[in-house]
Amino acid sequence: MSDNHLYESVAALPKIDLHRHLEGSIRVETLIEVARLYQIDLPESDVETLRPHVQIVKGDPRTWREFLGKFRVLRRFFQSPEVIKHITREVVIDAADDNVKYLELRFTPHALSRHIDCTYYDVVSWVCETVRAVEATHDIQVGLILSMNRHEELQIGEEILRTALEFHDCGIAGLDLAGQEPGYPAEPFRKVFLKAKEANLGVTIHAGEWAGPENVRRAVEHLGADRIGHGVRSADDPDLIEFLIERGVLLEICPTSNIQSGVVSEMSRHPLVELFKHNVRTTINTDDPAISNITLTDEIVHVVENTTLTVEDIKQQILTAAAGAFLPEDERAALVNRFETLLASS
Ligand SMILES: [Zn+2]
Repeated sequence: MSDNHLYESVAALPKIDLHRHLEGSIRVETLIEVARLYQIDLPESDVETLRPHVQIVKGDPRTWREFLGKFRVLRRFFQSPEVIKHITREVVIDAADDNVKYLELRFTPHALSRHIDCTYYDVVSWVCETVRAVEATHDIQVGLILSMNRHEELQIGEEILRTALEFHDCGIAGLDLAGQEPGYPAEPFRKVFLKAKEANLGVTIHAGEWAGPENVRRAVEHLGADRIGHGVRSADDPDLIEFLIERGVLLEICPTSNIQSGVVSEMSRHPLVELFKHNVRTTINTDDPAISNITLTDEIVHVVENTTLTVEDIKQQILTAAAGAFLPEDERAALVNRFETLLASS
């Protein structure tokens, strides 16, 4: 298959992204507009010179510090309700334009409310309202996940949970624990996530990315994770692989992000292949399309070009993603049916 042909066939595939951060998906061009409008003191004032401050570029150190550093710059742009709505709208449209038919978009209300005099409730209502409006005009369904950071106070997490429960019937599908994995165990957030699970919210935990496989097991055993953000280090532990299969835990793998943050040395060695071949439930996602300068189509093409996975394997992973969506059971079954039909004809 020629490169162009592969790209076009993947672009045409109906796709699912379960792991994408709103803050990591802002168009660089939009940053310039927002900076002018709100007089944000930017390191640079045109797209190409701004790019290295918000995007991973050639020569950047491949470390979690560098990767999270881009987030810190990006979060400065959320300066008003209008900006939050504008960015959310563009992010969902970009996904729809890439033929993502089902997207679970996560965001951190604490970070987004930092520069605006507002509550978490306000931020979530602006994002929800915008997403519903885009759904009405584009062929995309969006679930929302609220994130909290493991390196921040537990109190923030408790408030995020309260907000998620208030919005449970109108768009918030799950909770996520993100942030600095090294040095910050997930256990202090145990109660928050167990309560979320009791209330039928989906639970996903970033683990086994910048720290070892033991964090993946702990996220499942102690926090009730249904899904793991990344979890690529699971491949280092054969017992954990068995455990993940037994429990049916789904891994939200983001290959380019792993390479850019130094978790994996190169695509041809990505543990995704081994995990998939062992029948662990694996999916391919973008994490931060803007920071990584990729689309989901790019991500899948990179995987197919550089590993032994085929487009047929990718289709199987898309169905795995549908079956792992944070939706009520009947809606999840409908999503799986829809994708079986769509993929059979593509
Ligand atoms: Zn992530």
